[in-house]
Amino acid sequence: MWGWWKNKEQRQAQELQRLQAQLHAAQAEQRLADVVFQIPVAVLVTSARGVIERINAAFTQLTGYAPDEVVGKTPWLLRSGHHDEAFYVAMRASIQQTGRWQGEIWDRHKDGSIIPKWMTITAVADAQGQPTHFVATYVDISERKRAEEERHRLAFYDALTRLPNRTLALERLQLAISASARSSVHGAVLLIDLDDFRRINDSAGHAQGDVLLQQVAERLLACVDAEDTVARMGGDEFLLVLAEACTSAEKAAAHIEQLAARVLHALGQDYLLGGDRFRCGASIGAALFAKGAPPAQDVVKQAELAMYQAKQEGGGKLHFFDAALEQAVARRVQLERELDEALAQGHLALHYQPQVAPGGQVVGAEALVRWRHPERGLVSPGEFIPLAEDTGQILPLGAWVLQTACDQLAAWAGQPHTANLTLAVNVSALQFGQSDFVAQVAQAIERSGARPQLLKLELTESMLVDDVDGVIAKMHALRALGLRLSLDDFGTGYSSLAYLRRMPIDQLKIDQSFVRDLLQDANAMAIARSVAALGHSLGLDVVAEGVETAAQRDALADLGCASYQGYFFGRPVALPEFEAWLARLAAP
Ligand code: C2E
Ligand code: MG
Ligand code: MG
Repeated sequence: MWGWWKNKEQRQAQELQRLQAQLHAAQAEQRLADVVFQIPVAVLVTSARGVIERINAAFTQLTGYAPDEVVGKTPWLLRSGHHDEAFYVAMRASIQQTGRWQGEIWDRHKDGSIIPKWMTITAVADAQGQPTHFVATYVDISERKRAEEERHRLAFYDALTRLPNRTLALERLQLAISASARSSVHGAVLLIDLDDFRRINDSAGHAQGDVLLQQVAERLLACVDAEDTVARMGGDEFLLVLAEACTSAEKAAAHIEQLAARVLHALGQDYLLGGDRFRCGASIGAALFAKGAPPAQDVVKQAELAMYQAKQEGGGKLHFFDAALEQAVARRVQLERELDEALAQGHLALHYQPQVAPGGQVVGAEALVRWRHPERGLVSPGEFIPLAEDTGQILPLGAWVLQTACDQLAAWAGQPHTANLTLAVNVSALQFGQSDFVAQVAQAIERSGARPQLLKLELTESMLVDDVDGVIAKMHALRALGLRLSLDDFGTGYSSLAYLRRMPIDQLKIDQSFVRDLLQDANAMAIARSVAALGHSLGLDVVAEGVETAAQRDALADLGCASYQGYFFGRPVALPEFEAWLARLAAP
Protein backbone atom coordinates (compact mmCIF):
# COMPACT_ATOMS: atom_id res chain seq x y z
CA MET A 1 0.00 0.00 0.00
CA TRP A 2 2.64 2.43 1.12
CA GLY A 3 4.62 1.21 -1.77
CA TRP A 4 1.85 2.22 -4.16
CA TRP A 5 1.63 5.67 -2.50
CA LYS A 6 5.25 5.99 -2.69
CA ASN A 7 5.25 5.11 -6.33
CA LYS A 8 2.43 7.55 -7.07
CA GLU A 9 4.29 10.34 -5.26
CA GLN A 10 7.37 9.53 -7.12
CA ARG A 11 5.55 9.57 -10.43
CA GLN A 12 3.94 12.93 -9.58
CA ALA A 13 7.28 14.34 -8.55
CA GLN A 14 8.81 13.10 -11.74
CA GLU A 15 5.94 14.57 -13.75
CA LEU A 16 6.35 17.85 -11.92
CA GLN A 17 10.03 17.84 -12.60
CA ARG A 18 9.40 17.14 -16.23
CA LEU A 19 6.84 19.96 -16.42
CA GLN A 20 9.17 22.29 -14.62
CA ALA A 21 11.96 21.41 -17.00
CA GLN A 22 9.64 21.99 -19.92
CA LEU A 23 8.58 25.29 -18.48
CA HIS A 24 12.18 26.15 -17.97
CA ALA A 25 12.98 25.24 -21.50
CA ALA A 26 10.03 27.23 -22.80
CA GLN A 27 11.05 30.18 -20.71
CA ALA A 28 14.59 29.85 -21.98
CA GLU A 29 13.28 29.65 -25.52
CA GLN A 30 11.11 32.69 -24.90
CA ARG A 31 14.06 34.53 -23.43
CA LEU A 32 16.15 33.43 -26.32
CA ALA A 33 13.50 34.62 -28.74
CA ASP A 34 13.26 37.88 -26.84
CA VAL A 35 17.03 38.27 -26.91
CA VAL A 36 17.06 37.43 -30.59
CA PHE A 37 14.42 40.07 -31.13
CA GLN A 38 16.55 42.67 -29.40
CA ILE A 39 19.42 42.36 -31.81
CA PRO A 40 20.07 45.46 -33.89
CA VAL A 41 19.04 43.68 -37.09
CA ALA A 42 15.46 44.36 -38.20
CA VAL A 43 13.36 41.20 -37.96
CA LEU A 44 9.85 40.48 -39.20
CA VAL A 45 7.99 37.20 -38.64
CA THR A 46 4.93 36.20 -40.65
CA SER A 47 2.64 33.24 -40.47
CA ALA A 48 2.73 30.58 -43.15
CA ARG A 49 0.10 32.62 -44.97
CA GLY A 50 2.25 35.74 -44.86
CA VAL A 51 0.43 37.65 -42.13
CA ILE A 52 2.78 39.66 -39.95
CA GLU A 53 2.91 38.25 -36.39
CA ARG A 54 5.86 39.95 -34.89
CA ILE A 55 8.48 42.62 -35.54
CA ASN A 56 11.35 43.83 -33.39
CA ALA A 57 12.46 47.30 -32.30
CA ALA A 58 15.14 47.46 -34.96
CA PHE A 59 12.44 46.92 -37.60
CA THR A 60 10.42 49.81 -36.16
CA GLN A 61 13.49 51.95 -36.23
CA LEU A 62 14.27 51.02 -39.83
CA THR A 63 10.76 51.33 -41.29
CA GLY A 64 9.02 53.74 -38.94
CA TYR A 65 6.20 51.25 -38.25
CA ALA A 66 5.28 50.28 -34.65
CA PRO A 67 4.08 46.67 -34.00
CA ASP A 68 0.40 47.61 -33.75
CA GLU A 69 0.61 49.26 -37.16
CA VAL A 70 1.81 46.14 -38.94
CA VAL A 71 0.84 43.05 -36.97
CA GLY A 72 -2.06 41.39 -38.73
CA LYS A 73 -1.17 42.95 -42.08
CA THR A 74 1.10 41.67 -44.84
CA PRO A 75 4.54 42.96 -45.84
CA TRP A 76 2.84 44.34 -48.95
CA LEU A 77 2.53 47.64 -47.12
CA LEU A 78 6.30 48.07 -47.40
CA ARG A 79 6.30 47.91 -51.19
CA SER A 80 7.95 50.88 -52.88
CA GLY A 81 7.00 50.20 -56.48
CA HIS A 82 10.71 50.02 -57.28
CA HIS A 83 10.51 46.33 -58.21
CA ASP A 84 8.35 44.78 -60.87
CA GLU A 85 6.11 41.72 -60.46
CA ALA A 86 8.77 39.39 -61.84
CA PHE A 87 10.98 40.32 -58.91
CA TYR A 88 8.41 39.06 -56.38
CA VAL A 89 7.58 35.97 -58.44
CA ALA A 90 11.25 35.00 -58.42
CA MET A 91 11.43 35.64 -54.68
CA ARG A 92 8.45 33.36 -53.95
CA ALA A 93 9.81 30.65 -56.20
CA SER A 94 13.14 30.69 -54.43
CA ILE A 95 11.49 30.41 -51.00
CA GLN A 96 9.33 27.52 -52.15
CA GLN A 97 12.21 25.59 -53.60
CA THR A 98 15.02 26.32 -51.17
CA GLY A 99 13.27 27.76 -48.15
CA ARG A 100 15.31 30.92 -48.54
CA TRP A 101 15.66 34.16 -50.45
CA GLN A 102 18.32 36.77 -50.21
CA GLY A 103 18.83 40.01 -52.09
CA GLU A 104 18.61 43.75 -52.34
CA ILE A 105 15.15 45.20 -51.92
CA TRP A 106 13.98 48.79 -51.98
CA ASP A 107 11.15 49.28 -49.47
CA ARG A 108 9.16 52.30 -48.52
CA HIS A 109 9.60 53.88 -45.08
CA LYS A 110 6.47 54.99 -43.26
CA ASP A 111 7.46 58.60 -44.12
CA GLY A 112 7.42 57.76 -47.83
CA SER A 113 11.17 57.68 -48.40
CA ILE A 114 12.74 54.69 -50.05
CA ILE A 115 15.35 52.64 -48.24
CA PRO A 116 17.58 50.12 -49.96
CA LYS A 117 17.92 47.02 -47.77
CA TRP A 118 19.60 43.69 -47.86
CA MET A 119 16.92 41.12 -46.96
CA THR A 120 17.11 37.46 -46.01
CA ILE A 121 13.88 35.40 -45.78
CA THR A 122 14.01 32.00 -44.12
CA ALA A 123 11.11 29.56 -43.89
CA VAL A 124 10.56 27.84 -40.49
CA ALA A 125 9.13 24.36 -41.03
CA ASP A 126 7.36 21.88 -38.69
CA ALA A 127 8.31 18.22 -38.25
CA GLN A 128 6.52 17.37 -41.52
CA GLY A 129 8.43 20.01 -43.42
CA GLN A 130 5.45 22.33 -43.78
CA PRO A 131 6.28 26.01 -43.28
CA THR A 132 4.81 27.44 -40.12
CA HIS A 133 6.48 30.84 -40.26
CA PHE A 134 8.67 33.05 -42.38
CA VAL A 135 11.39 35.10 -40.76
CA ALA A 136 12.76 38.09 -42.64
CA THR A 137 15.83 40.02 -41.53
CA TYR A 138 16.87 43.36 -43.02
CA VAL A 139 20.13 45.26 -43.12
CA ASP A 140 19.98 48.92 -44.03
CA ILE A 141 22.39 49.40 -46.92
CA SER A 142 21.60 53.03 -47.75
CA GLU A 143 24.91 54.14 -46.22
CA ARG A 144 26.78 51.60 -48.31
CA LYS A 145 24.75 52.66 -51.36
CA ARG A 146 25.61 56.27 -50.77
CA ALA A 147 29.30 55.44 -50.44
CA GLU A 148 29.04 53.35 -53.60
CA GLU A 149 27.37 56.21 -55.43
CA GLU A 150 30.01 58.60 -54.17
CA ARG A 151 32.73 56.27 -55.38
CA HIS A 152 30.93 56.04 -58.71
CA ARG A 153 30.58 59.81 -58.87
CA LEU A 154 34.27 60.33 -58.18
CA ALA A 155 35.27 57.72 -60.72
CA PHE A 156 32.94 58.81 -63.50
CA TYR A 157 32.09 62.46 -62.95
CA ASP A 158 34.04 65.67 -63.01
CA ALA A 159 34.06 67.26 -59.56
CA LEU A 160 34.03 70.84 -60.86
CA THR A 161 31.23 70.73 -63.42
CA ARG A 162 29.50 67.51 -62.28
CA LEU A 163 29.52 66.41 -65.91
CA PRO A 164 30.56 62.88 -66.88
CA ASN A 165 34.32 62.66 -67.05
CA ARG A 166 36.52 61.26 -69.81
CA THR A 167 36.11 57.66 -68.64
CA LEU A 168 32.33 57.79 -68.65
CA ALA A 169 32.26 59.78 -71.89
CA LEU A 170 34.31 57.12 -73.65
CA GLU A 171 32.09 54.40 -72.19
CA ARG A 172 28.92 56.10 -73.45
CA LEU A 173 30.50 56.81 -76.81
CA GLN A 174 31.45 53.16 -77.12
CA LEU A 175 27.83 52.21 -76.47
CA ALA A 176 26.67 54.67 -79.11
CA ILE A 177 29.22 53.33 -81.59
CA SER A 178 28.10 49.74 -80.96
CA ALA A 179 24.46 50.76 -81.33
CA SER A 180 25.14 52.55 -84.61
CA ALA A 181 26.93 49.49 -85.95
CA ARG A 182 23.92 47.29 -85.12
CA SER A 183 21.31 49.57 -86.60
CA SER A 184 23.47 51.04 -89.41
CA VAL A 185 22.79 54.65 -88.49
CA HIS A 186 25.23 57.54 -88.18
CA GLY A 187 26.20 59.02 -84.87
CA ALA A 188 28.51 61.90 -84.04
CA VAL A 189 30.76 63.45 -81.43
CA LEU A 190 31.74 67.07 -81.06
CA LEU A 191 34.92 68.00 -79.26
CA ILE A 192 34.80 71.54 -77.95
CA ASP A 193 37.88 73.42 -76.84
CA LEU A 194 37.79 76.96 -75.50
CA ASP A 195 39.93 79.40 -77.46
CA ASP A 196 40.78 81.88 -74.75
CA PHE A 197 40.62 79.88 -71.55
CA ARG A 198 44.29 80.13 -70.68
CA ARG A 199 44.29 83.88 -71.15
CA ILE A 200 41.23 84.33 -68.91
CA ASN A 201 42.53 81.84 -66.36
CA ASP A 202 45.79 83.77 -66.16
CA SER A 203 44.25 87.21 -66.02
CA ALA A 204 41.15 86.59 -63.89
CA GLY A 205 42.65 83.90 -61.66
CA HIS A 206 42.07 80.18 -61.37
CA ALA A 207 39.01 80.50 -59.15
CA GLN A 208 37.26 82.56 -61.84
CA GLY A 209 38.56 80.15 -64.45
CA ASP A 210 36.71 77.40 -62.58
CA VAL A 211 33.53 79.48 -62.59
CA LEU A 212 33.93 79.98 -66.32
CA LEU A 213 34.16 76.22 -66.86
CA GLN A 214 31.01 75.71 -64.79
CA GLN A 215 29.17 78.26 -66.87
CA VAL A 216 30.38 76.61 -70.05
CA ALA A 217 29.04 73.28 -68.76
CA GLU A 218 25.64 74.84 -68.09
CA ARG A 219 25.49 76.49 -71.49
CA LEU A 220 26.41 73.24 -73.22
CA LEU A 221 23.73 71.35 -71.32
CA ALA A 222 21.20 73.94 -72.41
CA CYS A 223 22.19 73.45 -76.07
CA VAL A 224 21.68 69.70 -76.28
CA ASP A 225 18.85 67.21 -75.90
CA ALA A 226 18.40 65.41 -72.61
CA GLU A 227 19.63 62.12 -74.10
CA ASP A 228 22.86 63.61 -75.39
CA THR A 229 25.97 63.30 -73.26
CA VAL A 230 27.90 66.40 -72.31
CA ALA A 231 31.22 65.46 -70.75
CA ARG A 232 34.33 67.25 -69.59
CA MET A 233 37.37 65.59 -71.09
CA GLY A 234 39.78 67.62 -68.96
CA GLY A 235 41.06 71.19 -68.90
CA ASP A 236 38.91 73.34 -71.15
CA GLU A 237 37.89 70.46 -73.38
CA PHE A 238 34.32 69.15 -73.56
CA LEU A 239 32.75 66.33 -75.53
CA LEU A 240 29.22 66.01 -76.83
CA VAL A 241 28.02 62.55 -77.73
CA LEU A 242 24.86 62.93 -79.75
CA ALA A 243 22.06 60.51 -79.12
CA GLU A 244 20.15 61.39 -82.26
CA ALA A 245 20.87 58.73 -84.85
CA CYS A 246 20.79 59.89 -88.45
CA THR A 247 20.08 57.69 -91.41
CA SER A 248 22.80 59.24 -93.54
CA ALA A 249 26.14 60.98 -93.06
CA GLU A 250 24.69 64.08 -94.75
CA LYS A 251 21.82 64.26 -92.27
CA ALA A 252 24.23 63.80 -89.39
CA ALA A 253 26.48 66.55 -90.76
CA ALA A 254 23.54 68.92 -91.10
CA HIS A 255 22.44 68.14 -87.55
CA ILE A 256 25.96 68.80 -86.29
CA GLU A 257 26.19 72.08 -88.14
CA GLN A 258 23.00 73.32 -86.51
CA LEU A 259 24.08 72.18 -83.09
CA ALA A 260 27.59 73.63 -83.47
CA ALA A 261 26.10 76.98 -84.46
CA ARG A 262 23.96 76.91 -81.30
CA VAL A 263 26.96 75.96 -79.16
CA LEU A 264 29.23 78.62 -80.65
CA HIS A 265 26.53 81.22 -80.15
CA ALA A 266 25.86 80.16 -76.55
CA LEU A 267 29.54 79.99 -75.60
CA GLY A 268 30.23 83.26 -77.39
CA GLN A 269 28.07 85.29 -74.99
CA ASP A 270 29.78 87.31 -72.27
CA TYR A 271 30.79 85.52 -69.07
CA LEU A 272 30.36 87.39 -65.82
CA LEU A 273 33.33 86.51 -63.61
CA GLY A 274 33.86 88.32 -60.34
CA GLY A 275 31.98 91.37 -61.61
CA ASP A 276 33.93 91.59 -64.88
CA ARG A 277 32.77 90.60 -68.32
CA PHE A 278 34.85 88.18 -70.39
CA ARG A 279 34.56 86.73 -73.84
CA CYS A 280 35.76 83.28 -74.65
CA GLY A 281 35.36 81.71 -78.06
CA ALA A 282 35.50 78.00 -78.80
CA SER A 283 36.66 75.67 -81.54
CA ILE A 284 34.71 72.54 -82.41
CA GLY A 285 35.90 69.38 -84.08
CA ALA A 286 33.28 66.89 -85.22
CA ALA A 287 33.62 63.25 -86.16
CA LEU A 288 30.92 60.94 -87.48
CA PHE A 289 30.73 57.25 -86.81
CA ALA A 290 28.79 54.38 -88.33
CA LYS A 291 29.23 50.68 -88.98
CA GLY A 292 32.93 49.87 -89.09
CA ALA A 293 33.89 52.85 -86.94
CA PRO A 294 37.11 52.60 -84.91
CA PRO A 295 36.96 52.35 -81.09
CA ALA A 296 35.72 55.32 -79.06
CA GLN A 297 39.19 56.64 -78.29
CA ASP A 298 40.03 56.85 -81.97
CA VAL A 299 36.78 58.59 -82.82
CA VAL A 300 37.64 61.18 -80.16
CA LYS A 301 41.11 61.53 -81.72
CA GLN A 302 39.50 62.22 -85.07
CA ALA A 303 37.36 64.92 -83.50
CA GLU A 304 40.52 66.26 -81.89
CA LEU A 305 42.28 66.53 -85.24
CA ALA A 306 39.33 68.39 -86.67
CA MET A 307 39.28 70.66 -83.62
CA TYR A 308 42.98 71.50 -84.11
CA GLN A 309 42.21 72.33 -87.72
CA ALA A 310 39.46 74.70 -86.56
CA LYS A 311 41.94 76.30 -84.18
CA GLN A 312 44.53 76.66 -86.90
CA GLU A 313 42.00 78.50 -88.99
CA GLY A 314 41.65 81.08 -86.26
CA GLY A 315 39.21 79.38 -83.88
CA GLY A 316 35.56 80.16 -83.26
CA LYS A 317 34.41 77.61 -85.81
CA LEU A 318 33.44 74.03 -86.54
CA HIS A 319 35.59 71.66 -88.52
CA PHE A 320 34.76 68.13 -89.60
CA PHE A 321 37.23 65.32 -89.44
CA ASP A 322 38.03 63.82 -92.76
CA ALA A 323 40.27 60.99 -93.79
CA ALA A 324 42.49 63.15 -96.01
CA LEU A 325 43.31 65.30 -93.03
CA GLU A 326 44.18 62.24 -91.03
CA GLN A 327 46.49 61.00 -93.75
CA ALA A 328 48.18 64.37 -93.89
CA VAL A 329 48.74 64.27 -90.15
CA ALA A 330 50.08 60.73 -90.34
CA ARG A 331 52.46 61.79 -93.11
CA ARG A 332 53.65 64.70 -91.02
CA VAL A 333 54.30 62.48 -88.03
CA GLN A 334 56.27 60.12 -90.23
CA LEU A 335 58.18 62.96 -91.85
CA GLU A 336 59.09 64.36 -88.48
CA ARG A 337 60.48 61.02 -87.34
CA GLU A 338 62.37 60.53 -90.58
CA LEU A 339 63.81 64.01 -90.43
CA ASP A 340 65.20 63.19 -86.99
CA GLU A 341 66.91 60.19 -88.52
CA ALA A 342 68.18 62.27 -91.42
CA LEU A 343 69.72 64.75 -88.98
CA ALA A 344 71.31 61.96 -86.95
CA GLN A 345 72.60 59.99 -89.92
CA GLY A 346 73.83 62.84 -92.08
CA HIS A 347 71.27 62.44 -94.84
CA LEU A 348 71.21 66.17 -95.46
CA ALA A 349 73.28 67.86 -98.14
CA LEU A 350 73.82 71.35 -99.44
CA HIS A 351 73.26 72.22 -103.07
CA TYR A 352 74.83 75.29 -104.57
CA GLN A 353 73.23 77.73 -106.97
CA PRO A 354 75.43 80.33 -108.63
CA GLN A 355 74.95 84.05 -108.29
CA VAL A 356 76.16 85.93 -111.30
CA ALA A 357 77.19 89.56 -111.86
CA PRO A 358 75.85 91.57 -114.85
CA GLY A 359 79.13 90.93 -116.66
CA GLY A 360 78.55 87.16 -116.42
CA GLN A 361 81.18 86.31 -113.82
CA VAL A 362 80.17 84.04 -110.91
CA VAL A 363 80.37 86.01 -107.69
CA GLY A 364 79.06 83.45 -105.28
CA ALA A 365 76.39 80.90 -104.52
CA GLU A 366 73.38 80.29 -102.35
CA ALA A 367 73.47 77.15 -100.24
CA LEU A 368 70.16 75.30 -100.44
CA VAL A 369 69.55 72.31 -98.25
CA ARG A 370 68.42 68.96 -99.66
CA TRP A 371 67.34 65.76 -97.96
CA ARG A 372 68.76 62.62 -99.45
CA HIS A 373 65.92 60.36 -98.46
CA PRO A 374 66.82 56.65 -98.55
CA GLU A 375 63.57 55.75 -100.38
CA ARG A 376 62.21 58.94 -101.84
CA GLY A 377 65.47 60.30 -103.23
CA LEU A 378 66.16 64.03 -103.12
CA VAL A 379 63.48 65.88 -101.15
CA SER A 380 63.26 69.64 -101.62
CA PRO A 381 63.19 72.02 -98.66
CA GLY A 382 59.69 73.21 -99.49
CA GLU A 383 58.50 69.84 -98.18
CA PHE A 384 60.37 69.74 -94.90
CA ILE A 385 61.48 73.25 -93.90
CA PRO A 386 57.97 74.36 -92.85
CA LEU A 387 57.60 71.15 -90.85
CA ALA A 388 61.04 71.59 -89.30
CA GLU A 389 60.02 75.11 -88.32
CA ASP A 390 56.89 73.78 -86.61
CA THR A 391 58.69 71.06 -84.74
CA GLY A 392 61.82 73.03 -83.86
CA GLN A 393 63.97 70.63 -85.88
CA ILE A 394 65.00 73.69 -87.86
CA LEU A 395 67.40 74.56 -85.04
CA PRO A 396 69.76 71.57 -85.38
CA LEU A 397 69.17 71.60 -89.13
CA GLY A 398 70.04 75.28 -89.43
CA ALA A 399 73.10 74.86 -87.27
CA TRP A 400 74.29 72.07 -89.54
CA VAL A 401 73.72 74.18 -92.68
CA LEU A 402 75.60 77.09 -91.18
CA GLN A 403 78.59 75.02 -90.12
CA THR A 404 78.70 73.16 -93.45
CA ALA A 405 78.57 76.41 -95.40
CA CYS A 406 81.37 77.94 -93.32
CA ASP A 407 83.47 74.79 -93.79
CA GLN A 408 82.85 75.07 -97.54
CA LEU A 409 83.97 78.68 -97.65
CA ALA A 410 87.14 77.68 -95.81
CA ALA A 411 87.73 74.84 -98.29
CA TRP A 412 87.19 77.17 -101.27
CA ALA A 413 89.74 79.60 -99.89
CA GLY A 414 92.48 77.24 -101.08
CA GLN A 415 91.56 77.44 -104.80
CA PRO A 416 92.12 80.65 -106.77
CA HIS A 417 88.90 80.35 -108.81
CA THR A 418 86.78 79.79 -105.72
CA ALA A 419 88.66 81.81 -103.11
CA ASN A 420 86.55 84.95 -103.50
CA LEU A 421 83.10 83.35 -103.86
CA THR A 422 80.48 84.46 -101.39
CA LEU A 423 78.13 81.90 -99.90
CA ALA A 424 74.59 82.78 -98.86
CA VAL A 425 72.88 80.77 -96.14
CA ASN A 426 69.15 80.86 -95.40
CA VAL A 427 68.25 81.52 -91.78
CA SER A 428 64.83 80.76 -90.33
CA ALA A 429 63.05 83.16 -88.04
CA LEU A 430 63.10 80.60 -85.23
CA GLN A 431 66.82 80.10 -85.67
CA PHE A 432 67.49 83.83 -85.74
CA GLY A 433 65.33 84.30 -82.65
CA GLN A 434 67.55 82.12 -80.45
CA SER A 435 69.23 84.25 -77.82
CA ASP A 436 72.65 82.79 -78.62
CA PHE A 437 72.31 82.96 -82.39
CA VAL A 438 75.12 85.50 -82.80
CA ALA A 439 77.41 83.33 -80.69
CA GLN A 440 76.53 80.28 -82.80
CA VAL A 441 77.43 82.12 -85.99
CA ALA A 442 80.68 83.40 -84.48
CA GLN A 443 81.56 79.87 -83.42
CA ALA A 444 80.82 78.39 -86.86
CA ILE A 445 83.04 81.00 -88.49
CA GLU A 446 85.81 80.49 -85.99
CA ARG A 447 85.73 76.70 -86.12
CA SER A 448 85.89 76.66 -89.89
CA GLY A 449 88.41 79.44 -90.35
CA ALA A 450 86.22 80.96 -93.09
CA ARG A 451 86.54 84.65 -93.99
CA PRO A 452 83.37 86.20 -92.54
CA GLN A 453 83.23 88.76 -95.38
CA LEU A 454 82.26 85.94 -97.74
CA LEU A 455 79.40 84.67 -95.60
CA LYS A 456 75.99 86.10 -96.30
CA LEU A 457 72.95 85.37 -94.12
CA GLU A 458 69.61 85.50 -95.87
CA LEU A 459 66.96 86.73 -93.48
CA THR A 460 63.28 87.25 -94.16
CA GLU A 461 60.81 89.95 -93.31
CA SER A 462 58.92 87.49 -91.10
CA MET A 463 61.64 88.00 -88.48
CA LEU A 464 60.50 91.56 -88.00
CA VAL A 465 57.04 90.84 -86.67
CA ASP A 466 57.89 91.69 -83.12
CA ASP A 467 60.70 93.24 -81.12
CA VAL A 468 62.07 95.19 -84.05
CA ASP A 469 64.67 96.84 -81.83
CA GLY A 470 65.94 93.49 -80.62
CA VAL A 471 66.13 92.20 -84.19
CA ILE A 472 68.01 95.26 -85.36
CA ALA A 473 70.43 95.02 -82.44
CA LYS A 474 71.10 91.41 -83.36
CA MET A 475 71.71 92.38 -86.96
CA HIS A 476 74.28 94.89 -85.81
CA ALA A 477 75.99 92.24 -83.71
CA LEU A 478 76.12 89.92 -86.72
CA ARG A 479 77.49 92.64 -88.95
CA ALA A 480 80.15 93.26 -86.33
CA LEU A 481 81.40 89.72 -86.98
CA GLY A 482 82.24 90.90 -90.48
CA LEU A 483 79.56 89.03 -92.40
CA ARG A 484 76.85 90.38 -94.67
CA LEU A 485 73.08 90.35 -94.47
CA SER A 486 70.57 89.93 -97.24
CA LEU A 487 66.78 90.28 -97.09
CA ASP A 488 65.33 87.29 -98.97
CA ASP A 489 62.00 87.11 -100.82
CA PHE A 490 61.71 90.85 -100.57
CA GLY A 491 58.35 92.28 -101.45
CA THR A 492 56.30 89.32 -100.22
CA GLY A 493 56.29 90.30 -96.56
CA TYR A 494 55.31 93.38 -94.69
CA SER A 495 58.46 95.27 -93.85
CA SER A 496 57.94 98.86 -93.05
CA LEU A 497 60.16 101.28 -94.89
CA ALA A 498 60.94 103.03 -91.63
CA TYR A 499 62.37 99.80 -90.20
CA LEU A 500 64.14 98.97 -93.42
CA ARG A 501 66.06 102.23 -93.16
CA ARG A 502 67.28 101.33 -89.68
CA MET A 503 68.37 97.82 -90.57
CA PRO A 504 72.06 97.23 -91.20
CA ILE A 505 71.52 95.05 -94.26
CA ASP A 506 73.63 94.85 -97.41
CA GLN A 507 71.29 93.38 -99.93
CA LEU A 508 67.68 93.03 -101.05
CA LYS A 509 66.62 89.96 -102.96
CA ILE A 510 63.70 90.64 -105.29
CA ASP A 511 61.38 87.72 -104.82
CA GLN A 512 61.18 85.27 -107.68
CA SER A 513 57.42 85.72 -108.05
CA PHE A 514 58.00 89.25 -109.39
CA VAL A 515 60.82 88.11 -111.66
CA ARG A 516 58.66 85.35 -113.09
CA ASP A 517 55.87 87.74 -114.07
CA LEU A 518 58.12 90.66 -114.90
CA LEU A 519 57.46 90.69 -118.62
CA GLN A 520 53.77 89.76 -118.60
CA ASP A 521 52.48 91.66 -115.62
CA ALA A 522 52.80 95.41 -115.29
CA ASN A 523 52.30 95.20 -111.53
CA ALA A 524 55.19 92.76 -111.13
CA MET A 525 57.38 95.07 -113.17
CA ALA A 526 56.31 98.06 -111.08
CA ILE A 527 57.15 96.22 -107.86
CA ALA A 528 60.52 95.04 -109.18
CA ARG A 529 61.31 98.57 -110.25
CA SER A 530 60.32 100.00 -106.86
CA VAL A 531 62.36 97.40 -104.98
CA ALA A 532 65.38 98.22 -107.14
CA ALA A 533 64.88 101.95 -106.62
CA LEU A 534 64.38 101.48 -102.90
CA GLY A 535 67.54 99.38 -102.67
CA HIS A 536 69.56 101.93 -104.51
CA SER A 537 68.27 104.83 -102.47
CA LEU A 538 69.19 102.97 -99.28
CA GLY A 539 72.60 102.09 -100.71
CA LEU A 540 71.88 98.35 -100.90
CA ASP A 541 72.77 95.76 -103.52
CA VAL A 542 69.76 94.42 -105.34
CA VAL A 543 69.76 90.76 -106.36
CA ALA A 544 67.12 89.11 -108.50
CA GLU A 545 66.31 85.46 -107.92
CA GLY A 546 64.43 83.07 -110.15
CA VAL A 547 65.85 84.42 -113.38
CA GLU A 548 64.98 81.87 -116.06
CA THR A 549 65.40 83.72 -119.34
CA ALA A 550 67.71 86.15 -121.06
CA ALA A 551 64.81 88.56 -121.49
CA GLN A 552 64.24 88.59 -117.73
CA ARG A 553 67.94 89.17 -117.15
CA ASP A 554 67.97 92.09 -119.59
CA ALA A 555 64.94 93.70 -118.02
CA LEU A 556 66.50 93.32 -114.59
CA ALA A 557 69.77 94.77 -115.88
CA ASP A 558 67.82 97.85 -116.94
CA LEU A 559 66.58 98.14 -113.36
CA GLY A 560 70.18 98.11 -112.17
CA CYS A 561 70.40 94.73 -110.44
CA ALA A 562 73.81 93.99 -108.99
CA SER A 563 73.55 90.23 -109.52
CA TYR A 564 71.23 87.45 -110.63
CA GLN A 565 70.38 83.99 -109.58
CA GLY A 566 68.20 81.52 -111.46
CA TYR A 567 67.93 78.52 -113.71
CA PHE A 568 69.08 80.69 -116.65
CA PHE A 569 72.55 80.72 -115.07
CA GLY A 570 72.48 77.46 -113.24
CA ARG A 571 70.29 75.26 -111.11
CA PRO A 572 71.16 74.37 -107.53
CA VAL A 573 73.47 71.34 -107.81
CA ALA A 574 75.52 69.12 -105.53
CA LEU A 575 79.02 70.24 -104.62
CA PRO A 576 81.03 68.08 -107.09
CA GLU A 577 78.88 69.27 -109.99
CA PHE A 578 79.08 72.86 -108.86
CA GLU A 579 82.83 72.72 -108.54
CA ALA A 580 83.22 71.01 -111.93
CA TRP A 581 81.05 73.71 -113.48
CA LEU A 582 83.19 76.44 -111.88
CA ALA A 583 86.36 74.74 -113.07
CA ARG A 584 85.07 74.66 -116.64
CA LEU A 585 84.25 78.38 -116.46
CA ALA A 586 87.70 79.16 -115.07
CA ALA A 587 89.47 77.10 -117.72
CA PRO A 588 91.08 79.29 -120.37
P1 C2E B 1 64.85 80.75 -101.28
O1 C2E B 1 65.88 81.02 -100.25
O2 C2E B 1 64.11 81.93 -101.82
O3 C2E B 1 65.57 79.94 -102.41
C1 C2E B 1 65.29 80.08 -103.74
C2 C2E B 1 64.48 78.96 -104.24
O4 C2E B 1 64.17 79.20 -105.61
C3 C2E B 1 65.22 77.63 -104.24
O5 C2E B 1 64.27 76.61 -104.01
C4 C2E B 1 65.73 77.53 -105.65
O6 C2E B 1 65.95 76.20 -106.07
C5 C2E B 1 64.58 78.14 -106.42
N1 C2E B 1 65.03 78.70 -107.69
C6 C2E B 1 66.25 79.19 -108.00
N2 C2E B 1 66.28 79.62 -109.28
C7 C2E B 1 65.04 79.41 -109.78
C8 C2E B 1 64.45 79.65 -111.06
O7 C2E B 1 65.05 80.17 -112.00
N3 C2E B 1 63.16 79.32 -111.22
C9 C2E B 1 62.46 78.76 -110.20
N4 C2E B 1 61.19 78.44 -110.42
N5 C2E B 1 62.97 78.50 -108.98
C10 C2E B 1 64.26 78.84 -108.78
P2 C2E B 1 64.56 75.50 -102.98
O8 C2E B 1 65.98 75.08 -103.02
O9 C2E B 1 63.51 74.49 -103.18
O10 C2E B 1 64.36 76.26 -101.63
C11 C2E B 1 63.14 76.72 -101.30
C12 C2E B 1 63.17 77.52 -100.05
O11 C2E B 1 63.54 76.70 -98.96
C13 C2E B 1 64.22 78.59 -100.05
O12 C2E B 1 63.79 79.71 -100.71
C14 C2E B 1 64.42 78.82 -98.58
O13 C2E B 1 63.42 79.70 -98.10
C15 C2E B 1 64.21 77.46 -98.03
N6 C2E B 1 65.51 76.88 -97.72
C16 C2E B 1 66.32 76.22 -98.56
N7 C2E B 1 67.44 75.84 -97.91
C17 C2E B 1 67.32 76.29 -96.65
C18 C2E B 1 68.16 76.24 -95.48
O14 C2E B 1 69.28 75.72 -95.47
N8 C2E B 1 67.69 76.81 -94.34
C19 C2E B 1 66.48 77.43 -94.31
N9 C2E B 1 66.07 77.97 -93.19
N10 C2E B 1 65.67 77.50 -95.38
C20 C2E B 1 66.09 76.95 -96.53
MG1 MG C 1 67.22 82.18 -100.02
MG1 MG D 1 64.07 83.67 -102.03
